[in-house]
Amino acid sequence: MSDKPRKVFISIDMEGITGIVDWAQVGRDPHEYEVGRKLMVGDLNAAIEGALEAGAEEVVVSDAHGRMRNLQPEEVHEAAYLIRGSPKPGSMMEGIGEGFDAALYVGYHSMKGTENGILCHTISGRAVDAIYINGRETGEFGLNSALAGWYGVPSVFVSGDAAVAAEARSFVPNIKAAIVKWAVGRYAAKCLHPKKARALIKKTVTEALADAGNIKPYRVEEPVEVKIRYATSTMADVVSILPYIERVDGRTVKAVFSSYPEALRGLRATIYLAGAAENR
Ligand SMILES: [Zn+2]
Repeated sequence: MSDKPRKVFISIDMEGITGIVDWAQVGRDPHEYEVGRKLMVGDLNAAIEGALEAGAEEVVVSDAHGRMRNLQPEEVHEAAYLIRGSPKPGSMMEGIGEGFDAALYVGYHSMKGTENGILCHTISGRAVDAIYINGRETGEFGLNSALAGWYGVPSVFVSGDAAVAAEARSFVPNIKAAIVKWAVGRYAAKCLHPKKARALIKKTVTEALADAGNIKPYRVEEPVEVKIRYATSTMADVVSILPYIERVDGRTVKAVFSSYPEALRGLRATIYLAGAAENR
């Protein structure tokens, strides 16, 4: 890698955005969602500005929340490419690959069941109880940073609440985190003002990219064992139709994959199926 990170990838979710504390703001309420989208693009543009300040020549942004059309193209900083829409094979990480110098995670949240984790969940709040990669419980940050790591890309920055910062550090010890809110429960937090949050995000991204060469890509051992506990036994019944799946117990299944990208695809396919299982 050259001294300056030239190519930067940003995956942006919504639950960890400044000021967001409720599902209403991430899609459930039309009015509050519009306010949430403005807050989201504010955090994003601060991260892009931080990347440009660090010398980035190419910034690729992957809209990673819900249907992945949250960001209004015209509001996104013009220096960045925007990947939007779903479904797509790479999901929250669509666009990542070899050639990137660093991956950033904006607006991320902690895994399901985290104490004081704002809007904590793991991929699907309705379908997934827990995901274990090689025996270790892993949330969205761990799942996605392991894909970046598979391509040799270090995960250098995360923004969100204090809980996701702690979770990210448990996977990438020297990752730089911009904490924009502190939960007082799953649906309440003490928040930085958006202006202060954006300044913090910009500054922390610039520092993180300057230090990118010292951060090791997060990798998981291959072959990869994926174990998933669903919300209901019906979900595990339906997922067990897939030939690569082994049933562990009422709500839990597992599978072994030779490579990590395959494991992530295999995992996502089960979650789509599980989501359809209770539609009866
Ligand atoms: Zn989300």
